[in-house]
Amino acid sequence: MSLNVEDLARANVRALTPYQSARRLGGKGDVWLNANEYPEAVPFTVNATALNRYPECQPQTVIARYAAYSGLNTDQVLVSRGADEGIELLIRAFCEPGKDAILFCPPTYGMYHVSAETIGVAYRTIKLRENWQLDLPAIAAHLDGVKLVYVCSPNNPTGNPLNPQDMHQLLEITRGKALVVADEAYIEFCPQATLASWINTYPHLVILRTLSKAFALAGLRCGFTLANNAVIALLLKVIAPYPLSTLVADIAAQALSEQGIAQMRQHVTALNDNRRYLLDALHSCDCVEQVFASEANYVLARFSASDTVFKSLSDQGIILRDQHKQPGLAGCIRISVGTRQECERLIAALQSLPGITHSRGQA
Ligand SMILES: *Cc1c(COP(=O)(O)O)cnc(C)c1O
Repeated sequence: MSLNVEDLARANVRALTPYQSARRLGGKGDVWLNANEYPEAVPFTVNATALNRYPECQPQTVIARYAAYSGLNTDQVLVSRGADEGIELLIRAFCEPGKDAILFCPPTYGMYHVSAETIGVAYRTIKLRENWQLDLPAIAAHLDGVKLVYVCSPNNPTGNPLNPQDMHQLLEITRGKALVVADEAYIEFCPQATLASWINTYPHLVILRTLSKAFALAGLRCGFTLANNAVIALLLKVIAPYPLSTLVADIAAQALSEQGIAQMRQHVTALNDNRRYLLDALHSCDCVEQVFASEANYVLARFSASDTVFKSLSDQGIILRDQHKQPGLAGCIRISVGTRQECERLIAALQSLPGITHSRGQA
């Protein structure tokens, strides 16, 4: 008798489509503009001499530095294996499988639904409006049984921050019912838009942050959850005993030193300049139908014949992130802002695409 191990797996895991990360999708290229990574490596040195001991669960220096950086108290900060682990810890701490639900607003980041499905918690979606802002009446009408509302600002992949007035309203309609989780993975590119200071007025506001984007440390796997100390205390109950290795904590502390933060800010200034170049140049490409404004390190654009564009660029070693399967994003591709040279190579490739003509303005 043969045993099919698949039959032993949980039904929701059998049915699960794992997150299609840029790394999993792979491809061969030399210009990687598909994962919103910082385009160049930033060097760090590590002290690997005391690895016989377990690390601290919440390394003090990292917590103290992130609290200072975000203007909060140390008991309002949790550090984890990337912001992705924060997404999951919240569901594990607040949602009863088979009973509670999470809610999020597509088009948006894909890990909210993957985490819910993996854990076996239901999810509800309320599409963003045409201007990529929240549909508050629809959210208000679907909050029954919802424990967590995930919103992303600036939103991945559309690039826009959410209106602060809408966030106030969202926090009012969820009061006493659900937590609002604002994913600020890209907040360093528009720091004035952060809701971090609101944590002191809204006990049900949670903010997710990461070192993966502006801090140029996607390979480190280090993220932060900011919230009222009661929320943090609950998350500390479900987190692994040693979520970060000693080496990760060591490098995170360096990245969050005064010098590390100053360097990150210089990188952000340079990338924001490159984004302006990229936005302008995309407007002048015949195959581009629409370019969306962005306050993050990526740009979303709608192309005529986006499949052909995507494939042709990939054949030339320029790897982008296809978004056409997301609701409302037919023909859309997300482009991470790379070095100026990478942006120029992309634009040159787009301008020399054969046989793609633009319908706008033609008879
Ligand atoms: C990249 C990203 C994350 C994940 O960050 P990690 O710290 O690398 O896990 C979370 N949310 C959004 C919106 C992202 O784009």
